[in-house]
Amino acid sequence: MLVLGGGLAGVACARRLAEDGVGVTLVDRNDYHQFQPLLYQVASSQLPAEDVARPHRAIFREHATVDVVTAEVAEVWLADHGLVLTDGRTLTGSHVVVAAGARPNFFGVPGAAEHAFPLYSVADAERLRLHLQDLLRDAAPGTLDVVVVGGGPTGVETTGALAELMGALHASGRLARPGRITIVDRGDALLGEFSAHAQEYTARKLREAGADVRLHTGVAAVHPDRVELDDGSSIPARTVVWGGGELGASVAASAGPEPGRGARLDVRPDLTLEGYPDAYAVGDAANIPSGESGTWPQLGSVAQQSGKWAAENVLRDLRREPSRPFRYKDKGIMAMIGRNAAVAEVGRHHHQVEGPVAFAAWLGVHMMLMSGVHSKTDAFVTWAWDYFDRDRTATLEASATPQRIAWGDDEADRPHIALD
Ligand SMILES: Cc1cc2nc3c(=O)[nH]c(=O)nc-3n(C[C@H](O)[C@H](O)[C@H](O)COP(=O)(O)OP(=O)(O)OC[C@H]3O[C@@H](n4cnc5c(N)ncnc54)[C@H](O)[C@@H]3O)c2cc1C
Repeated sequence: MLVLGGGLAGVACARRLAEDGVGVTLVDRNDYHQFQPLLYQVASSQLPAEDVARPHRAIFREHATVDVVTAEVAEVWLADHGLVLTDGRTLTGSHVVVAAGARPNFFGVPGAAEHAFPLYSVADAERLRLHLQDLLRDAAPGTLDVVVVGGGPTGVETTGALAELMGALHASGRLARPGRITIVDRGDALLGEFSAHAQEYTARKLREAGADVRLHTGVAAVHPDRVELDDGSSIPARTVVWGGGELGASVAASAGPEPGRGARLDVRPDLTLEGYPDAYAVGDAANIPSGESGTWPQLGSVAQQSGKWAAENVLRDLRREPSRPFRYKDKGIMAMIGRNAAVAEVGRHHHQVEGPVAFAAWLGVHMMLMSGVHSKTDAFVTWAWDYFDRDRTATLEASATPQRIAWGDDEADRPHIALD
């Protein structure tokens, strides 16, 4: 049984299979899992990278039937349930689950892939942090100005964290003129999926934190020192963060079926690929039918639940029982805009809350996501309340060590993150 990808979906799938003693080979290019919802905390120096990554061998220490292979997958063979690795090896199994996640979508904007900083991996977040830290040393006016492209949750959360960081550096006397953070989006509101009320709250909180919000604004090109907008104007900035959308992982395209919307694999209601009853796609790599509005969004809870559901269907198949269509337990949508500011739409009817109640909802969902990879979720809760509640001055790591999550891990359980 093969699982491609050790993110939230792949880990949930492998864990569920291992609980029933099924042998699993999980392949990932990194030897660690990365927890994407906290990447902006790493980029803004509020958490060290090691705190949002966890070695796969530590996750599966108590699951003897899971074999972790650290390798890049070049190709997926659906018919033979095989994975071809870039080192020339081929792995085969009884079933294959594609849980390879996503990559940034630069929408063909010239210069974006070369000059913008995406935020999809721990290495991306660490690169952005080091870049900002470099710029901080040369704190000439304008050096630290940042443009964040995309007003979805990633763009909003990153804008909030960076605006707070600049404000804190200014307040502590380390920066005479804090960098200006501008978030741009083509649409007429931030957080397009949320209600108008939540959108207004978000824009207000970001402005209060010192950010500029520019709507109805598309990006025409990214240069090393400025962003060109589609109205012909430009914003000088040596840092452009790309939160502009995502595509399914490139390896998904090698699987054979024509990828669907967002270059993701279209799956049947039971998460299998049409014509391949032993092959599944889950999480961000898949377009998973929702039954009403098309497909489920690219969210951690969808990834985790679909990974587990695919495992349940594999187990049913091994027992020669029919598979079942995926049923998602909707946890709602939420975004943390900064300390003391969060929005959430929770429950089946997406009841809207903001402030501490929204933060509590965010915490509940993220604790559940994290429990798939960490046993000490109480340490995460302690850290998160402290972050949300206290007006602690954020500082770049150059001058202080960020507050850590007290995982209490041994040295052997710390990931080693390489920036290639
Ligand atoms: C910045 C950011 C913030 C987010 N915040 C939230 C949030 O607050 N709440 C929420 O619910 N969701 C959030 N999401 C979405 C959520 O993180 C994703 O939906 C979820 O992590 C997807 O899980 P996955 O397992 O499908 O993919 P991933 O977690 O991306 O895992 C895919 C894995 O496949 C591996 N892989 C890919 N290709 C190959 C290959 N060719 N060879 C070997 N290995 C490969 C990768 O290394 C990776 O480990 C956020 C996403 C981002 C990017």
